[in-house]
Formats: sequence, C-alpha cells, structure tokens
Amino acid sequence: MSRFTNPSVFPSFYELPSTSDPSAPSDKTWYLLAQIKENMTITKPTLIVTDRKGVDFALLFEDSISLKGFRKGHVIFVPGARRTDREGEGKKAVVHVPVGQGADVKVIPGSLERVFELGVVLEGQEGMSQRCAACGKMEGAFMKCTGCSFTAYCGKDCQVKGWGEMDHKSNCKVLKVLRDISV
Ligand SMILES: [Zn+2]
Ligand SMILES: [Zn+2]
Repeated sequence: MSRFTNPSVFPSFYELPSTSDPSAPSDKTWYLLAQIKENMTITKPTLIVTDRKGVDFALLFEDSISLKGFRKGHVIFVPGARRTDREGEGKKAVVHVPVGQGADVKVIPGSLERVFELGVVLEGQEGMSQRCAACGKMEGAFMKCTGCSFTAYCGKDCQVKGWGEMDHKSNCKVLKVLRDISV
C-alpha cells in the first residue's frame, strides 16, 4: 500500500491523535496534509485549512512565524500534528503547532487532490525502470527533468511536450517538494 493512501501515515483531521489521548504515539511517524483555505491571523499566525475529507479546521502556530508564502489553495505539511479537542458547546477542535516546530511545517505548491495523486505516482514509480513520460517509450537513454529529478523523457522534444502540452509545469514543483520531504 502506498503511504499516501494509508490513513495512519497521512491521517485526516479526525484521524489525528488527540492531545488528550494518553495512548497516542510519541514518535512522529504521521503527517497532516491539508489545503489552505484562509489566513485568519489576528495575533498568532492562524490558517483555516481543509483536510482530505473536506473538514475545515484552524491551524494555530505558537511560533511567531511569517505566513508569507502560505498561499491559499496550496497544501501544508505538518509532521506529527495532534488535534486539540476543546470542551464546551460550539468549541471546535483545532491543531496547534507547538513552539519550536513552526519551521517543520512546509508548503507544497499545489492542491490537496494533486498532492495525494502525485504522492501515489511518486511512490509507485520510485526505483522502477525508466519510461518517457511523454511518449511512453521504455528503451534507450533518458533525461530526467532538472526541476523534480523524477520525471524522465527520451529526448528534448518529449521534454518540451511534457512541460507544456502535458502540463508537467504544474506538477514539477509539487513533485520536488514531495521528494524533499519524502518520509
Ligand atoms: Zn519520449
Ligand atoms: Zn519536473
């Protein structure tokens, strides 16, 4: 199974371990991925984000980090995120990013759907024999895209076609970040 389809590696909001759960694991072997919906910063840096199941929740940073570059529609990646359930009617659960961990949060420049899609592709093809991403050719020499170092082409023409016509330019940055944060 791909880790991207495994809810214990990439849980949705309600699948996250709760901060009040004593049996929750202490190692950070899971990662929250959610799409940025709104920047709601008043005092502390705060984002409203949407998880893979369409649930909206607030992500609050205890560090005073800058949210410049955290663009609407892009995806945040939070290692070991925990959900804080709050007592009382109408009080919604949130995710706090503790002091000192703000810098571990990364932004992936693509939609949540695309990130999961490409995550599965990336894992499925890692280490496999090469194949031109544009024409499908499987023999001969290949050149890898210099942006993501993942997608391979049989030649310059296919690279140009892949970048423009087949829209690799939208996927390239997502693949690059996914490879950088490869877990
Ligand atoms: Zn080709
Ligand atoms: Zn690329």
